[in-house]
Amino acid sequence: MSAIIIDGAAMARHVLDEQKARAARLAGQGRQPGLAVLLVGDDPASAVYVRSKERACREAGVRTFDTRLPASTTQAALLEKIHALNSDPQVHGILVQLPLPKHIDSVIVLQQIAVGKDVDGFNWRNLGALLDGHAGLAPCTPSGTMIMLERSGVPIAGRHAVVMGRSSIVGKPAALMLLERNATVTICHSRTADLAAITRQADILVCAVGRPRMVTADMVKPGAAVIDVGINRTPDGKLCGDVDFAAVRTRAGWITAVPGGVGPMTVAMVIANVITAAERATG
Ligand code: NDP
Repeated sequence: MSAIIIDGAAMARHVLDEQKARAARLAGQGRQPGLAVLLVGDDPASAVYVRSKERACREAGVRTFDTRLPASTTQAALLEKIHALNSDPQVHGILVQLPLPKHIDSVIVLQQIAVGKDVDGFNWRNLGALLDGHAGLAPCTPSGTMIMLERSGVPIAGRHAVVMGRSSIVGKPAALMLLERNATVTICHSRTADLAAITRQADILVCAVGRPRMVTADMVKPGAAVIDVGINRTPDGKLCGDVDFAAVRTRAGWITAVPGGVGPMTVAMVIANVITAAERATG
């Protein structure tokens, strides 16, 4: 068997085209959507992520308000900046690129972003809305994962979905979204006993751990849909996921690659959230 490769890059281009049409409708009413990206410090990986989000904004017709602040920025100064953006009517989405410098408490900072502009979906009210099955602004990586499954025709309702990882930004919201689509969901983590026995039961396996190629073929049920969220760097500097792609693709029914899988979809979902925020703010 050779799995169908879910092409995240192609799917993301399609999602971005859809956003372009939504953004154009708003711009036609004189209400161009706008995203403010706050980057504190000069972490090179963060700068790459910010540039890719800004590029996607340009493609979709979303205006960007680029705010680069030095690593020495105090928490108080960053909060002041966020409060100013919260009340700027041209800014519909605010995104704080993580990680922040160690002297800044990211939990406090993220909770200060206005709920309606929280396009990363990390605000507790947006996460609470997700928990309660309401359409707030949902975290982008799990949203992208769901679109990849749905648009690839992967059956979800009634299937067993296993999510590896329980972070608030990927694992837990992914589990909630799968539950919302009527999957039977198991969440695994670093204390899970006999992990492989559980992953082998998965019709849908979402891997969000951050350990290079830890998911081997013997951990996967034949025909399963395997979504690899992990982004890891190998010793030779290349990117790889949490899944041993070459081996697992011979066993899975569907699989995503790294790079070119969940990553581009995450960026596309940020843009979708900005436009949703703009529609709600102005509509
Ligand atoms: P976290 O480090 O916050 O969470 C990792 C999770 O994996 C934890 O719940 C941890 O368990 C669990 N874990 C660790 N080791 C094991 C193990 N041996 N077996 C089972 N579970 C284990 O990471 P994130 O959720 O933020 O990110 C996960 C991965 O996804 C990373 O590689 C990250 O770079 C990538 N990522 C990719 C994105 C994209 O756009 N493609 C976006 C966001 C993240 P415990 O809770 O017990 O510690």
